[in-house]
Amino acid sequence: MRIGIDIGGTKIIAGIISDAGAVTSTKRIPTGAARTYGAILEDIIRLIQELINESGLQKRAIDRIGIATAGQIDKESKKILFSPNLRWHNVDLRGDIEKAIEIQTCIENDVNAATYGEWKFGFKGVPKDVLGIFVGTGIGGGLIVDGKLYRGFSNVGGEVGHTILNPYGYRCNCGNKGCFEAYCGGWYIVKRVKKRIQEGYRGKIGDIINGDMANLHTGTIEEAYLLGDEFCGHVWQEVIEYLGAGIASLVNLLNPEIVLLGGGVIYSTKHLIDEMKVVLNKRAMTASLHGLQIEKAKLGEEAALLGAAYIEE
Ligand SMILES: [Zn+2]
Repeated sequence: MRIGIDIGGTKIIAGIISDAGAVTSTKRIPTGAARTYGAILEDIIRLIQELINESGLQKRAIDRIGIATAGQIDKESKKILFSPNLRWHNVDLRGDIEKAIEIQTCIENDVNAATYGEWKFGFKGVPKDVLGIFVGTGIGGGLIVDGKLYRGFSNVGGEVGHTILNPYGYRCNCGNKGCFEAYCGGWYIVKRVKKRIQEGYRGKIGDIINGDMANLHTGTIEEAYLLGDEFCGHVWQEVIEYLGAGIASLVNLLNPEIVLLGGGVIYSTKHLIDEMKVVLNKRAMTASLHGLQIEKAKLGEEAALLGAAYIEE
């Protein structure tokens, strides 16, 4: 048995996982960037201890703890160099947990972990080359190359969301301009529509959200586009075009067997994948499209737990 932990910007989920990839029990706690590293670390340690106690398992039955977290992990020290959603710099979360719990612990970027989890347990590790693209508030990427997770020379590769699709384009939260995620990340899409509504725009989207910005998300923006809303139509067509063009560029570069799509924007929309495919088929090179499969992620939030727990070092 192993334990997987997924540390997100708003919640932490931990689960016990059998060697066959069954998540037998999970626990979750809220978190946030307002809390200190020390306070969050204490929460995580307590969460793991409770999970083990409630499972009835002996501690020695747990072979390993795997942590999935946003941000870049140093290749040698395994410290988190920077975690954007919790604003951590250079923290040794892996070492601190291993010291406190006394079970071997490893750490992985969350999108790498989710891609690996989907590949190993969702696709049984069969396809050799998989490009994972998770379109949520931003865009994260994970690469399986020749049956192994590809991390790059210094462990920080696979940053699909910050490939630059337009050097003069929208500003990205990374400080650059025109990144893939500045066009297709949910946070950025919602921000563009929200700004226009706040300037007085109503359209179909105004009826759909009924004056409540809490109802404004990529699902309702797509719905407004489908109903002919003029501004949402403009925004959404740009999303489709850039998503297709971004994936076409990556498919030309990597020639994967499977493009695996996950994340909130993918799950909340109805036609985005099909409409993206039209652009992809138009823009990618014919040879790169041969045999290419576009698949939706299957495991939801368990993917990162599974991947973190079972990823090979
Ligand atoms: Zn960027």
